Amino acid sequence: MSDMQDSERLARIFKALMHPARLDILEILRDDEHCVCHMEAHLGYRQAYISQQLTVLREAGLVDDRRDGWNIFYRVSEPRVFNLIDQARAMLGISGDTARAATQPAACPCPKCAARKNAHEKQSLVTDV
Ligand SMILES: [Zn+2]
Repeated sequence: MSDMQDSERLARIFKALMHPARLDILEILRDDEHCVCHMEAHLGYRQAYISQQLTVLREAGLVDDRRDGWNIFYRVSEPRVFNLIDQARAMLGISGDTARAATQPAACPCPKCAARKNAHEKQSLVTDV
């Protein structure tokens, strides 16, 4: 009986991973926590769609969220999931760098990127002088 439950728990993880959009979302959360609007800007999916996929990832215990003022930030709560993903990538000969390069838009309207951009602009103003 307990073996059965273990299999079910395993299947839940694989079911959560068995979706291109959810793999994209995990990839974007690989290095840092992000809000839905960041994922929207980087992945080109609609916000409602991303939220739906995040719910599946959260129910599988892979993703967690944190409220900060008006924003909700999502992060990967089980980073070992990337071992699975990276093994599958290696099987296909996909490098991690290619995946990350594909998810870099010119501008992102999310609070985190906006803050980073402002900090960068202030810094370049200082160095220009
Ligand atoms: Zn952003």
